[in-house]
Amino acid sequence: MKPIEEIKPLLESPKKVVVTMHQKPDADAMGSSLAMYHYLRQKGHEVTVISPTNFPDFLKWMPGAELVLDFESMQEKAMSALEGIDLLFCLDFNALYRTKAMAPHLEQLKCTKILIDHHLEPQPGFDYGVSDTAASSTAQLVYETLYKLGEEQYITSEIAQCIYAGTMTDTGSFRFASTSARVHRMVADLLDRGLKHELIHQAIYDNFLENRLRFIGHSLLHRMEVFYEYNTAMMAIPYADLKRFDLQTGDTEGLVNFLLSIQGIKMAALIIDRREEIKLSFRSKGDFDVNTFARKYFEGGGHFNAAGGRSADSLEKTVQRFIKAVEENEDLLQ
Ligand code: 5GP
Ligand code: MN
Repeated sequence: MKPIEEIKPLLESPKKVVVTMHQKPDADAMGSSLAMYHYLRQKGHEVTVISPTNFPDFLKWMPGAELVLDFESMQEKAMSALEGIDLLFCLDFNALYRTKAMAPHLEQLKCTKILIDHHLEPQPGFDYGVSDTAASSTAQLVYETLYKLGEEQYITSEIAQCIYAGTMTDTGSFRFASTSARVHRMVADLLDRGLKHELIHQAIYDNFLENRLRFIGHSLLHRMEVFYEYNTAMMAIPYADLKRFDLQTGDTEGLVNFLLSIQGIKMAALIIDRREEIKLSFRSKGDFDVNTFARKYFEGGGHFNAAGGRSADSLEKTVQRFIKAVEENEDLLQ
């Protein structure tokens, strides 16, 4: 993979471009993709942003979100956007399977493929890119890419909002270890450019419907289990809870973090029965590596302290498997 700054000559004449991200995108996937979209549009390219699935309502405020195609529900439009493209940007993921039903179509593309990402262990096959696991977020990498290209004059208010949102959420509001001096310098620059950061916090964190808060209360009271001998906490959410509280895409985001706030807990797991599959989210504090854990036991991956996975078993069976995996890791969890 050649360095990202070498794409500069490719951007000097108009191109047909698709920007895509991982399924069920979070604020970093959407924010980095839309920031890239706004930059490429200013450069005169024909650009379509495609999400493999729908995305949470609390990201609809993002500038350009209304233009994002959902591959699942708008497949025909998305396929024609992919036809004959010159450049494909893959943002905030590094293995094609994370684009679900889009993956076989992306594999067949003959165009130049560009990766901008911060997850561990990228898959080969990208022509240009940046894969920096020390970066707080993909949004930060998009920001740094614009500087590397000498194109920072294109950082508009729209781009600043998208980048701030992605970085804010992926750093847990600037508290995880990944919140480097680099991050704070970037935010200072965005503020100098007129960013209104409090509006972004409100748009993302103060926009719950009542049912989502009641679901959190119900889950903390009835679905949480703490295994003090393994410094681990877990929540298993049956499908019936998702129905009862009428949960929508994104409504379970952040729930796993509550578990880590218990004194002494080193690993937290949220296990959700989504019917089509069981989705697992892992978080850790300190030196327990959930990327390795997710890869080894649950066909997943991610980062050292935040990762995800899946299971084709029932919720009960998955919980049993999880507990067994925790027991096997007893020494690492001390
Ligand atoms: P979440 O628990 O929020 O779904 O995911 C936590 C982190 O792990 C995110 O950065 C997400 O992109 C990543 N992640 C989630 N599921 C997978 C997976 O199946 N494979 C890989 N490689 N990363 C994942
Ligand atoms: Mn990310």
